[in-house]
Parts: sequence; structure tokens; C-alpha cells
Amino acid sequence: MNKTEVETQSSLNRFIALTAIPGSSGNESDVAAEIVNQLIAAGVDSSQIEYDGAGERTRRKGNCGNLVVTLPGSGSGPRTLLSAHMDTVPICVGSQPVIDGDCVRSAVDTGLGADDRSGCAAILTAVVERLKRGDEKFPPAVITFLIQEEVGLEGARHLDVAKVGSVDRAFNFDGGTVEKLTTGAIGGERIKIRLHGVPAHAGVAPEKGASTIVMAARAIAELDANGWLGKVEKDGRFGTSNVGVLQAGDATNVITPLADLAAEARSHDPEMRTEIVSAIRSAFERAASEVKNDEGVAGTVEFESHVDYESFCLPSDHPSIEKASEAVRMVGREPFQEISNGGLDANWLFLHGISAVTIGCGQRNIHTADETLDIADYLDACRIATWLITDGANQ
Ligand SMILES: [Zn+2]
Repeated sequence: MNKTEVETQSSLNRFIALTAIPGSSGNESDVAAEIVNQLIAAGVDSSQIEYDGAGERTRRKGNCGNLVVTLPGSGSGPRTLLSAHMDTVPICVGSQPVIDGDCVRSAVDTGLGADDRSGCAAILTAVVERLKRGDEKFPPAVITFLIQEEVGLEGARHLDVAKVGSVDRAFNFDGGTVEKLTTGAIGGERIKIRLHGVPAHAGVAPEKGASTIVMAARAIAELDANGWLGKVEKDGRFGTSNVGVLQAGDATNVITPLADLAAEARSHDPEMRTEIVSAIRSAFERAASEVKNDEGVAGTVEFESHVDYESFCLPSDHPSIEKASEAVRMVGREPFQEISNGGLDANWLFLHGISAVTIGCGQRNIHTADETLDIADYLDACRIATWLITDGANQ
């Protein structure tokens, strides 16, 4: 048997079956149940399949946890992790996947949900292929099907790492073209700002008030003028920031006493990201302290910042990168490496001590109603996943 051979029709059917199941973030239990059914049908013993309870620990309570599947194999040799996320963005709920030429799309006006059911289905295919050849022939492997990726990588964040165990090389299947190996990603921080001012009648006694809208305007203008908003570059270091939400006031005749803002900062350099956050904080504190009423009462700031995901970058000779490159070449393609400007499950896996390369699996136009699956890419992802957990057989 060819080392990367997979049954194409059943690989495709597996994708279609998984993609037709609604499973937005926090509602993955039906998807997980179908994955469990397919694993058991393939010959995985139910004692090898476990939920880790992460749905109880996430910011929003989920209806199931991450699914952790262990394949003991021969019990020796490097231990490989394959991972994908089970949730989709809400636009994909109700998807009716149909094959259309060389791609799969939804027959109704929804997103397809290839992000990331194509990753789940590629991994399932790999497990089926491995079991067909005899689990005991291969080095140990572990699979994680993660929840709540689309709402801030919550499943990966709350993964019960003890259930996963130690891992020598790891591969996260999520993305488009299979040649692209994502070996690092940016870190991001989410900021909430609440400004308190002093209310007053805007016509009768405006001097008695301290406006939070004025405070916000001053702070934002200062950040913008000093290069701390949008693309940020300071002394050869880079990042981005944005004030994306501003909610304040409900009447023209009131000096606005309250404003809520939301902002973010990103950088591949954690120190730079922290610097951007502190620049934002100082600008708002300064603006609040400078806007006063006629009695000298100034505004105040509540400032809260929360690291969504920490940046990471694998060394180019890491075994996960070497193996992933070899796997991509096995299917006749030439791999290239990239660092992502968005967060990935791999960011949290890295913080848990698991160095994962992210590999594409045929997704196109994700998060839109035009989403499709490129069948050729998906089938190559199935072959790559299969090879990654069947290489090194003792036979
Ligand atoms: Zn996505």
C-alpha cells in the first residue's frame, strides 16, 4: 500500500457528514458525538476517547469539552499530536454541503463550515487509515478535537494537558492551501476602558460637567498623533492597535458622564504589545485627569487588559516543522513557512508546552457565505495527516 494512500470517496463523505452538523462555538456536542461514532466504527476502543471538561471552564459555558483520543500504537517512538477545532462561525449553521466540480459548497445561503470540519475530517481519515493498517505497528499518537476556537481560542486555552500527555511533534489542521506551514503567530490583547465623568445639564450649567466624550476624543487624538494607533512602529519594532468600540451618551442636553470603549493591541513581540497597551492606558488616564468641571473634579478611568493569545515562533529546525515539510513533499508539493498575523489554537498549545505546526486543509473564503472546500487540497491534507501518524511503522 502506498504510504499516503487514502480512500478518496470515504474521505470526502466523512467531510460532508461532519459539515452538515450544526455546531457553532459552545454547541459542538453533536459534532463531537458524530466524531466519536466514526472513531468507534473505525475500531477505536471507547476507553481511548475522553472529554476533558473544558466546556465548563471556558468564558461561555459550552455543551461539551475538548475530545482527546489516544492511539497507543507500539508504545514506543516519538508521540505525535494531531489537532483541529470542531466549532464553526455562526454563518455556517444550517450548511448543506454539496459537491460542485472540484469543490464543495453549501447548497443554501450559509457558509460551508470547511473551517474547520475539513481539519476534523482529515484527522478522522488518518485515524481510519491507521487502524486499517494495525494501530500496534505505529508509534503512539494523540488527537485533540477542540471546542470554541472561533471565540478566542477558548478550547485550546482550557485544554486539560494532563489528558493529552507529552508530545514530541504536533500538527494543527486548519487553513487553506496545504503547502503553507504556519510556524508562529502574533500575540493579541483585548482592552476594555470605562471613563467616568461628571454629568450636568448641557444648556443650563455645562461648566458643572466633565464629559467622557471629550476625554475619549482627546485620548484617541493623542494616540493617533503619536503613532500608537493602527500600524505602530517604534524603534524598528512593530505592532498594531485599534479602538474599535465607543459607546457613550443618549441625549444632547447632558454632559456625558459615562463612556465604554473596547480596543486591541497585537505584536509578534510581547514587550512591544505591552508597550502599546501602556501607551493606550496613559493616554486615557491623562485625558481623564485633564478634563475637569468648574470645581476641579476630573474624570477617572477603569482599564482592563486581557491577553487573548501569546505570540510564538518555532525554531526552523523543530521536529514538527521538519516532519510537516517532509509530509507535504510526500504528496508532491513544496512547503513554505509563514508567521500568522492572527491567533491560532497553536498559540495556546505552545503555552501548554506543545509546539504545533499549522497545516492547511482546503478551506477557501472562510467566515463568508462564499466559503468552499478545495477537494484536491483537502484530500492531500488527508494524505498528510495519514502519513504523519503512520510513518515509522515497525514492520
Ligand atoms: Zn475560523
